[in-house]
Amino acid sequence: MAKIAFIGLGNMGGGMCANLIKAGHTVAAFDLNAEAVSLASSKGARAADTVSDAVRDAEVVVSMLPAGKHVLSVYFGADGVAANAPKGAVLIDCSTIAVTDAREAHTKAEAAGFLMVDAPVSGGVAAAEAGTLTFMAGGEEAAFAKAEPILKGMGKNIFHAGGAGNGQAAKIANNMLLGISMIGTCEAFNLAEKLGLDAETFFKISSVSSGQCWSMTSYCPAPGPVQTAPSNRDYKPGFAVAMMLKDLHLAADAARAAGAEIRVGELAESIYQNLSDRGFGGLDFSGVMKDLKGQL
Ligand code: NAD
Repeated sequence: MAKIAFIGLGNMGGGMCANLIKAGHTVAAFDLNAEAVSLASSKGARAADTVSDAVRDAEVVVSMLPAGKHVLSVYFGADGVAANAPKGAVLIDCSTIAVTDAREAHTKAEAAGFLMVDAPVSGGVAAAEAGTLTFMAGGEEAAFAKAEPILKGMGKNIFHAGGAGNGQAAKIANNMLLGISMIGTCEAFNLAEKLGLDAETFFKISSVSSGQCWSMTSYCPAPGPVQTAPSNRDYKPGFAVAMMLKDLHLAADAARAAGAEIRVGELAESIYQNLSDRGFGGLDFSGVMKDLKGQL
């Protein structure tokens, strides 16, 4: 069992931190939000006052923060991880951030004597609480070997996607596909309905035909066929438009930098941007269906 510092106890990090405690690790927890720290402490974590306090005797540091700028400042700021954690500690960043930010963090962390893994997740708040997240990890083999047993305490499927930043690359490519497939699924259900098929009938056919995809079978954007889907609770997230848009921006930036053409990915980005601009950033990302039906 390891001594772990956990930084970033938000919607995702709160559940992940609790699962590390349940797995038997000793956890020191820090967040800028004092309420999140007391909640973690009520579940068995040591409440830390600062990043430096959290990491002072850590063998492993896990972070779950909003974006790259937060990760870089928490890691390399004056009161940060690199200046205060014991050398040789393994840094595992589970936030979704730009591939370039992740690679910068790896280079700086390694130069400062740490092992680093970028390990963004697939799965939402429920999976974070249940400990069933999928982790896609990037980093050296030696770093991954040390990170894997820790990640197993928070997730079900753990993949080593290659070197520094490859976890983030896998995550944004996957989520770009998800954004595209969700819009396609919404358009297909809307078209079928306009042509006279009800959602249940179209679902029965398409879910076992060549149009089948996760957006349809696990998260159907038309109310009815998948009981647990946000479409059955007026598109309350779930996975909000704003979060999908964040991932599509990251994908578009990375594609530009890598010279990869993503024509449909950019179209998906503009569709989610439009929903966000109109004030629907808090709607579930399958709410494209509502928009197609003229209900927004
Ligand atoms: P959140 O905003 O609920 O949590 C982020 C936490 O970080 C907050 O509690 C905030 O106070 C804390 N924080 C910010 N700056 C800090 C600092 N300098 N020091 C310490 N704490 C700081 O966000 P979330 O939904 O938990 O998402 C976290 C990450 O996980 C994001 O990168 C997101 O893209 C990714 N993600 C989220 C989901 C989801 O469904 N929510 C799914 C997959 C991936």
